[in-house]
Amino acid sequence: MIQKTSRLHTIVILGAGYSGTLTSVNILRKAVSEGIHILLIEGRLPFARGLAYHSWDDNLLLNVPAGNMSALADEPGHFVSYCQNIDPAFNAHSFISRRIYGDYLEHTLAQAKKESLAVLHKVEGHAVAVHPFVDSTGFSVQMANGEIFSADQLVLAFGHLLPKNPGLPSDFFATDSYIGNPWDFAALDGIDHDCPVLLIGSGHTAIDTLFRLTSSHPRKVFLVSRRGLRPHVHRSMAHQTPLLVAFPSYLHEVPCTVRAYLHALRNEVAKRERCGGNWRDVINELRPHTSAIWSHFNLAERRRFLIHTVAFWDIHRHRISPSAHWRLTQMLNSGQVEIIPAYIQSYDPCDEGVNVRLRLRHEETTKVVRVDTVVNCTGPNYNISTSTMPLIKQLSNDGLLKQDSMKIGLELDDQYQLIDSHGTPVNRLYYVGPMLKARYWEAIAVPELRGHTLDLAKIILAEIEHEQ
Ligand SMILES: Cc1cc2nc3c(=O)[nH]c(=O)nc-3n(C[C@H](O)[C@H](O)[C@H](O)COP(=O)(O)OP(=O)(O)OC[C@H]3O[C@@H](n4cnc5c(N)ncnc54)[C@H](O)[C@@H]3O)c2cc1C
Repeated sequence: MIQKTSRLHTIVILGAGYSGTLTSVNILRKAVSEGIHILLIEGRLPFARGLAYHSWDDNLLLNVPAGNMSALADEPGHFVSYCQNIDPAFNAHSFISRRIYGDYLEHTLAQAKKESLAVLHKVEGHAVAVHPFVDSTGFSVQMANGEIFSADQLVLAFGHLLPKNPGLPSDFFATDSYIGNPWDFAALDGIDHDCPVLLIGSGHTAIDTLFRLTSSHPRKVFLVSRRGLRPHVHRSMAHQTPLLVAFPSYLHEVPCTVRAYLHALRNEVAKRERCGGNWRDVINELRPHTSAIWSHFNLAERRRFLIHTVAFWDIHRHRISPSAHWRLTQMLNSGQVEIIPAYIQSYDPCDEGVNVRLRLRHEETTKVVRVDTVVNCTGPNYNISTSTMPLIKQLSNDGLLKQDSMKIGLELDDQYQLIDSHGTPVNRLYYVGPMLKARYWEAIAVPELRGHTLDLAKIILAEIEHEQ
């Protein structure tokens, strides 16, 4: 139990998307003494929404059913109850809009703040640098406006990085015909309504962008990706059988290689489908165990997975709602949308926009598509060494963080503390968010992040208790 603190204890949480917000919420809910102050810093977006839930566009739906979207790891029905207060017809199988989910996160933060012994301060502004105190008792956080905050414990929850420009560097990326940030809705809305657009990518980011671009204009859109794969659809949840929770028995004696696991997985899917089962259950049952499997793969196997398998894994694992699938299918059937498996060879700007030359996959031919604008929809970038964010550059230059060798996240210890460039954990400097992918693989969506934010909150509070 935490005793009343003899002095104020300040926890700075940098970034108020899902991860920073829920770390705050869990600390607020679990704090059992006064004297703990949380400074939640947000630079760009409304508090509690982050990149995924700041849109006011109800066309954009969650890609996970409401029943698995509780923000609180210890209250599984929390989100469904919230939704049913809005409309009793919502249930655990509903696919709710991301706008409502953002409202829910805001509400959850406000509620936790109201009921807590700890105190929450919201600070608007961009953090640009973090420096450990010389006596290692905490950190100073420098803001872009010159303000400086002191932290006894510091949580980095800076979230997603913008997509990298795809392929080789090109002058085209500096022109008005290119939009590098697919989440810049103002830029998307500024494209001439009747003009065709080419999206690089055919996954979730591309489908979101497609829906935004066609919500009021029936324009032509091309989705170009190397394999032309798109996410599978969730099955009607009404037919879902209860999931098995134990480690799948068909993987028990399997050697720890990607090839062997895939072979076993395919056999299991075939076996289940012969008995009227569904492949989605096999994937869903694997979900709680993917982190353990990832941790057992050696570096060569992880690399093999990222090169050869991840595109196929992602479309099975990260599915879209039935209504989004229906809408996409209608557009594909009508010819309004084309998904083209191809490599982009060149961009040649012209008076009417840009000619994009594609080398079609499995064919020796090329095709030129003329569009007004090209949007990079390759999804969030996990390679922090390419980030231009001042804070990340400073942390990296000062050796306070270390990128993992796969370049998909950060090196952390099992207490969520950053590993510095010498390989040593930085005491009380924590990270939570999608860069956990490097350590856990399955860590970028709410069903996993909610557990991490709760675990981190407990670690932070235990540290304070230890100090008393
Ligand atoms: C478009 C999209 C849709 C998704 N849909 C789903 C879904 O349906 N279901 C699901 O389970 N998961 C979904 N996810 C995944 C998941 O919810 C996110 O990964 C999760 O929200 C991550 O939140 P975050 O707080 O770590 O990052 P972010 O949402 O990126 O938030 C980070 C915040 O930190 C702020 N920040 C960054 N740097 C600074 C700084 N220097 N100073 C001050 N503030 C700073 C940013 O402005 C931002 O608000 C989606 C993800 C995306 C991108």
